[in-house]
Amino acid sequence: MSITVVGSIAYDTVKTPFGERQRMLGGAATHFALAASFFDQVRVVGPVGDDFGEPQLEVMRTRGTDLSDVERIAGGKTFFWQGEYGWDLNSRETHDTQLGVFEGFAPKLSQSSRDSEVLFLANIQPELQREVRAQLPDASFVALDSMNLWIDIARDSLVSAIETVDCVILNDAELRQLTGKPNLVSAAREVLSWKPAGAADGAADAAGAANATGAGPRGPSVIIAKQGEYGAALVTRESFFALPAYPLETVIDPTGAGDTFAGGFVGYVAANLAQPLSDELLRRAMAHASVLASFNVEEFGTERVQRLTRPEIDARLGELHAMTQFVAAA
Ligand code: AMP
Repeated sequence: MSITVVGSIAYDTVKTPFGERQRMLGGAATHFALAASFFDQVRVVGPVGDDFGEPQLEVMRTRGTDLSDVERIAGGKTFFWQGEYGWDLNSRETHDTQLGVFEGFAPKLSQSSRDSEVLFLANIQPELQREVRAQLPDASFVALDSMNLWIDIARDSLVSAIETVDCVILNDAELRQLTGKPNLVSAAREVLSWKPAGAADGAADAAGAANATGAGPRGPSVIIAKQGEYGAALVTRESFFALPAYPLETVIDPTGAGDTFAGGFVGYVAANLAQPLSDELLRRAMAHASVLASFNVEEFGTERVQRLTRPEIDARLGELHAMTQFVAAA
């Protein structure tokens, strides 16, 4: 089984109160792949320019990620993003976004990428997300991430893309902006009501999503609202779950935390696709996601997660489990 991901592959210039890095390896698909590759085979789809280096490709190949569908565009420039964080790392300002080779990119997926049972539409133009989704009509579980830029300039296209996925992973502020609803639970409920024209009424519940192979798009049944250092919430039609972030004393660079979270979540679901998509499974996936994201922010860019090990993940998972337990009655 494998996971196909389309999203930015980037050079990032980042400034935080703890330092800065020029043109380091980044991109939503990159961070996602580094996390999801702990759980399953990842296949990355996307373009890079001829300014993209072999050492960066080597990092992306960590844990066996397949780059056959990473296309090098001759004469093109790799996606570039520049951002700066405020003193408590909770606010981020984007100084520059250059789509470069993503402008006008027409994805041509190999048969292996089209055969994946799981698809992640990482943050990139919604139009491109839709093109890739259309090439995996029978995927069992499809998740999507996006950001405020696309809500601002391509909302209709983004809504159409969301209608074709099972799971939406957004920052809580983005979920509010997307729906115009100030309350997070109502905002999630609104997105849960979206479905493609022609989909059966009352489409899939969460359990239906991963088990309805071949049924075509059903509309989202799992919504995740990321809340940065405060954790993340999970809303389905039947239930609600929330998990704090693993508490860290030292956070150096939050860039890619959201994509690493998504890699942990989607990777865990993909590795357990043989089981029904139960609440219990979704909650465990949230815990893995939270742990992966906590490692990502300890160093700049991909530095920490590229050398992370499974025993380190398991140890932190145990700690997160212990610190989120309580006894309901004396
Ligand atoms: P995150 O911190 O999880 O929101 O993701 C940060 C990553 O997203 C960086 O590595 C950037 O390269 C990438 N990124 C920033 N802006 C965009 C954008 N407009 N479209 C796609 N990827 C982006």
